Order: sequence, then structure tokens, then C-alpha cells
Amino acid sequence: MNTKTIDFSKFSSIRIGPVVEVALIENDIVPKDHLIIGSANNVLISPTPPPLMILSKEYDYIRLDEDGLHIGAAIPGGRVVSFCKKNNIAHFEYLSKLPGTLGGMIKMNAGLKEFEIFNHLIAIRTISGWIPKEKIQYGYRKTSIDEVIFEAVFDAEAGYSVERYEMFAQMRSNQPHDPSAGSCFKNPPGDYAGRLIEAVGLKGEHIGAMAFSNVHANFLVNTGGGVYQDALTLIHLAQERVKAQFDIDLQCEIVLIDQKL
Ligand SMILES: Cc1cc2nc3c(=O)[nH]c(=O)nc-3n(C[C@H](O)[C@H](O)[C@H](O)COP(=O)(O)OP(=O)(O)OC[C@H]3O[C@@H](n4cnc5c(N)ncnc54)[C@H](O)[C@@H]3O)c2cc1C
Repeated sequence: MNTKTIDFSKFSSIRIGPVVEVALIENDIVPKDHLIIGSANNVLISPTPPPLMILSKEYDYIRLDEDGLHIGAAIPGGRVVSFCKKNNIAHFEYLSKLPGTLGGMIKMNAGLKEFEIFNHLIAIRTISGWIPKEKIQYGYRKTSIDEVIFEAVFDAEAGYSVERYEMFAQMRSNQPHDPSAGSCFKNPPGDYAGRLIEAVGLKGEHIGAMAFSNVHANFLVNTGGGVYQDALTLIHLAQERVKAQFDIDLQCEIVLIDQKL
């Protein structure tokens, strides 16, 4: 089994994590008892993670076949958008603003407002073969997928839209620029996690170099050299205060990766 050395304090979007020897998935061989990582845009990795694995370059492809658009799970969203622009394919414009690989996006059912990756998904391919969308449970930022996604096939409708592309760029213009893993918590039904964090007085709250952003309270940002434990303490603090004040259980959207969890 080939491996790759990854320094997660540089590789992950939140710039936290140890240097780890990560197993490479090649020829559809999935090492046992390893956790899959995409491009680490939605994860917070502790100093003691379980064994990790990552897809090799073999899974970095995109092609138009008769049954739809086939995309390897290691491909970043931006490359999907470039391909769709060139081939006039609709519905993927929003991926230009979502950092991550296709595998991570499908596992998280990533999206922007009503535009979600499952909307135009036909099937995924895992070690169990092709699994149609109808056999997968999915909802807001969650799916029932518990295997490594190798590839997926999507509807390939004509109609790439420059207007939609620009609309998504506009939606993103107010995001914090400090390193983060995107939204820290899922929005609870009928409310916004950012509003609740602000209401309990934690907007801009710092512990060490970690903070709930002053720009958008639901972004847990690393202002430089932040550490896992401080991020976790802030997460627990927000959950406790929001529970005490509003009786709402804030659920993490960030995936916590720790051997001890
Ligand atoms: C600045 C910023 C803004 C963001 N905005 C949004 C947003 O608007 N909407 C949104 O939905 N998300 C957003 N995110 C989060 C992130 O873009 C998505 O969650 C994306 O899907 C993460 O992809 P990844 O490859 O980095 O996955 P990772 O972070 O590496 O992993 C995320 C999860 O997916 C699993 N996973 C990864 N690859 C695979 C695979 N091949 N097979 C099975 N499971 C896999 C991992 O085990 C983990 O549970 C944002 C993140 C950042 C940093």
C-alpha cells in the first residue's frame, strides 16, 4: 500500500492538524479501518487522528458518456465547473464556490441554498458497485453513505449559465477570509446558527488564536497558529450557551476527526 505524507496544518482549510502518513486508495482497494479524507475543507483534525486514507490521482477525471456526466471523486469542484462551462452543461455553477472534492461534497450533500449536489445525482460507485440515488438517504448536509465514494454519475442537461455563476460569486462576497472549515454548525430548523451564536454573545469570541468570526459568527476561524483544543472548547461553549438560552442543540457541520471520539 502506497502512502503520502500530509501536513494537515497546511493541507486543511482551517490550517490545523498533525503531519500524518496517509494511505493512498488505488485500484479500488480500500485499506481496512482507515477514515477517508477528501481535501479537508470540512474537517477539524485532532493531534491524534485515526488512520487516514485519501483517493489517488486515478480518481481525478471527468468525462461525458451516453448515460451522463461521470466524475471521479478526487476531482475538485472548480474543475467540474470548468468542464461544464466548456461543454455547456447546466446545474454545477455553484461548485465554483464550494472548496472540496466531489467525494467530500457527495458525502456531505454540500450545497448553497437550494442548490445541492444530490439534486442532479444519478448514482455513486463504491466498493459495493453502483448505488442509485434512490437507495441513499440524504438531507441537509448529511447522507447515509458509509463507504468510500470512487465516482459518481450525474444528469448532463445542456445550459451552463454565466448569470448563475455570477449569482453564486455574489452570495460568497461576505465570507470571512481567515482560514476556516466553512460553517461550524448546521442551521437548526427555522433558524440560523450564526444568529444564535451572536445572540449568546460569542460573535468575535477568541480562545487562543481560534475565534467565532466577527464577519460571520458561524465561521470558526484560525487567526494564525490556532490549535484543535481551542477550536473544540469554542464549539462546546457555543453548544452549551445556545442550549441554555434557547433549548436548541447545535449540531456540528464540521466533521471532528479524533481517535478518541
Ligand atoms: C470557506 C469555506 C466555505 C464553505 N462553504 C460551504 C457551503 O456553502 N456549503 C457547503 O455545503 N459546504 C461548504 N463548505 C464545506 C466544504 O466545502 C464541503 O463540505 C466539501 O464537501 C468538503 O469537501 P472535501 O473534499 O474537502 O471533504 P473533507 O473535508 O475532506 O471531508 C468531509 C467529509 O466527507 C468524507 N469524505 C471525503 N471524501 C470522501 C469520499 N471519496 N468518499 C466518502 N466520504 C468522503 C470525509 O470522511 C468527511 O466525513 C465550505 C468550506 C470552506 C472552507
